[in-house]
Amino acid sequence: MLQVSDLSVAIGDKTILHDINLAIEPGEVHVLFGPNGSGKSTLLGALMGFARYRVLKGSIRLKGEEIVGLPVHERARRGIGLAFQRPPTIRGLTMRQMLAICAGDGVNAEELAACLRFERFLDREVNAGFSGGELKRSELMQLMAQSPDLVLLDEPESGVDLENIALIGRAINYLLGRRVGAPAGKSPRQVRQECVKAGLIITHTGYILDYVNADVGHVLYEGRISCSGNPRELLRCIHELGYGACVRCTF
Ligand code: ADP
Ligand code: MG
Repeated sequence: MLQVSDLSVAIGDKTILHDINLAIEPGEVHVLFGPNGSGKSTLLGALMGFARYRVLKGSIRLKGEEIVGLPVHERARRGIGLAFQRPPTIRGLTMRQMLAICAGDGVNAEELAACLRFERFLDREVNAGFSGGELKRSELMQLMAQSPDLVLLDEPESGVDLENIALIGRAINYLLGRRVGAPAGKSPRQVRQECVKAGLIITHTGYILDYVNADVGHVLYEGRISCSGNPRELLRCIHELGYGACVRCTF
């Protein structure tokens, strides 16, 4: 689905990401850990193609096609969708209108909203005055309407109260076309092979791992992927030893 090779990215004159290599197969979900300022949002922004992020070298391939140089809307058309860490407010556009734009014609806004208990927000302006948790639900709902093949989520659980985190988890599994737990008679590996979507999820706290079965974890430290491995093992290591130790550990 996604192949990132030797990718270096700058914001202005400052190089933020150095020689990133990352491969995500269809059906796989990867999580990205890392301290504040390590470049996590920069990586997602560069994959989506926001102009602020300047690719200095390397390649980004989506389903085998080079996408560096393509504008954001062309990447979205090819199947990438992103939920922002801090989404902007869009005045003059209601959530209902936004969902129609994301999905093309024929979106059932009520049905989507019901999944995220968001019915009463449909006729409000996009993200206007939303709380932290409401912003996250708004973002996920727009992605559900878009139904991307590669789902990029920037801290989907931040600012969400514990009661709503399960809701967010269910929405993410829906987005990824995953069921929670393998159905009877199928191994998690078989389920993964049948699923065509893929995800890259930035998580600060790791709470999302309780709801989404992630396959691979990475630690981004000072703009480099310093460590990759089992997501839960990585999280345990980070809790015990801190992010810095992940530079040295080998799985
Ligand atoms: P993370 O998501 O891991 O917290 P970011 O990708 O948001 O990190 O930021 C990585 C680095 O890039 C930080 O040092 C941040 O201050 C810097 N940065 C982000 N946006 C800008 C900008 N517009 N101009 C200059 N530096 C920026
Ligand atoms: Mg960030």
